[in-house]
Amino acid sequence: MKRFALVFLASLWPVLAVADPAQTEPASRTWIADVTIISPENLNHVETGSVLIEGGRIARVERKAGTKTPAGAVVVSGKGLFLIPGLIDSHVHLASIPGMNFDQMGSPSKMAQEYYRQLPRSYLYYGYTTLVDLAVVDHQVLTDFRNAPLHPDLYDCGGSLPFANGYPMSFLPAATRFKFFPNFIYDPAQASAIPAGYEPEDHTPEADVASVKRSGGVCVKTYFEHGFGRDRNLPVMGPDVLARIRKAATQNGLVLMIHANSFEAQKFGVNGNVDVLAHGMWNWGDLERNTELPADIKQLLDQIAARKIGYQPTIQVMQGLAAYFDPQYLETPAIPKLVPKEMLEWFNSPDGKWFKKELDDDGTPDAAMLRGIEQGPLRRVRQVVAYLADKDADFLFGTDTPSAPTYGNLPGLNGYLEMEQLRKAGLSLERIFRAATINNAQKFRIDSELGTIEPGKVANLVLLKQSPLKTVDAYDSIVTVWVHGKPVSRESLAIHSAK
Ligand SMILES: [Zn+2]
Repeated sequence: MKRFALVFLASLWPVLAVADPAQTEPASRTWIADVTIISPENLNHVETGSVLIEGGRIARVERKAGTKTPAGAVVVSGKGLFLIPGLIDSHVHLASIPGMNFDQMGSPSKMAQEYYRQLPRSYLYYGYTTLVDLAVVDHQVLTDFRNAPLHPDLYDCGGSLPFANGYPMSFLPAATRFKFFPNFIYDPAQASAIPAGYEPEDHTPEADVASVKRSGGVCVKTYFEHGFGRDRNLPVMGPDVLARIRKAATQNGLVLMIHANSFEAQKFGVNGNVDVLAHGMWNWGDLERNTELPADIKQLLDQIAARKIGYQPTIQVMQGLAAYFDPQYLETPAIPKLVPKEMLEWFNSPDGKWFKKELDDDGTPDAAMLRGIEQGPLRRVRQVVAYLADKDADFLFGTDTPSAPTYGNLPGLNGYLEMEQLRKAGLSLERIFRAATINNAQKFRIDSELGTIEPGKVANLVLLKQSPLKTVDAYDSIVTVWVHGKPVSRESLAIHSAK
């Protein structure tokens, strides 16, 4: 009885403490007043009201007009404006520099350093206050990111789990690929193609998942990809390996994500009971000649929707390739605000367009290349997304920035462009909003802290001039971003304002 009373008192204490403003009034309180509050748990009753931020958290949400300003609060008028939770991009690769291959990144230039310094701010510039990095290859970049004075919250999947010599470790020279992917999965059938010193027992699914867990990861990322172009016969894992990864991820409380962009790969992932498919399905294999969505694919999509498997369309992967054939892309007005001047000059130079030659090695005219992407993979992924939307699938917002060594996937901007692409594919504004807030928060189990505007959650908030339920342009009408309660004006996040 006594013990119960003590527990009761202890649990009541914080409530009493909050109720007594004289005792707890912190140095800084912010009252965002008369603002339209748009939060995913309350989309049927969007109201004008006020939000109190205290100690980096949301302390109070009043969904009505005319509430008295709390004592000592700095008032921010939200009149005519819209307040949303900070956006979550659950598919980024922070260490990869857009437009550069591994070798170019390997020789860190002043340009690269400046890019990394701006990186967290470029995400915030577009309202992204939370990111998930799916494949850590360079811990220092993530450490620097987390140590930056102002940065989005960052979660990661630790080192990813490619199948030995498979995608994407195949992009690196045989001598270094094992070093960059220490969580690769050992394949006894390839023993002669795995350098000495890597023991099978250290690279089992169980050992690799344990290593992700030890490094602080929240998710496990693996791959099913036969490859493309010159490397189209890469080794892939079998269902037995995926089953072991699945089991180990569950035991460690980690979210299981698979890189899968083909019908075959997504079927493999669904059969293996993954939590998240990290791409849209733009490769239909033998079914690619169909202009309508084939019945076999529909059947698989029905399962994806019914089982609420997280789905990241990442349409910008395709647009990122198209950017090299679109003369307008590098003219996008926001780009000079997001990347260093020298880097933009390099993108515009013949040297900086090296990747274009890889995409188009026989000199096909730009317009024909664009048409090919538009009528092929882009058309297919849009059909898939529209079908899944109709079936109420669990869309997760993820950009895969950058998805390839392409300058077509720039931090922050790529999120905005992905939203435009999702809209174009037929996703409603409400679905896009939910995908980038609550859906991501729930799937990555951070919804007790993030994803809505509710008391107790972290004060990661974005103030907009337009409503995201009216137009996708709203996501480019940011006035202020709050990062753990600290207000930052959008323009101060542009590269030339950095100091
Ligand atoms: Zn990726």
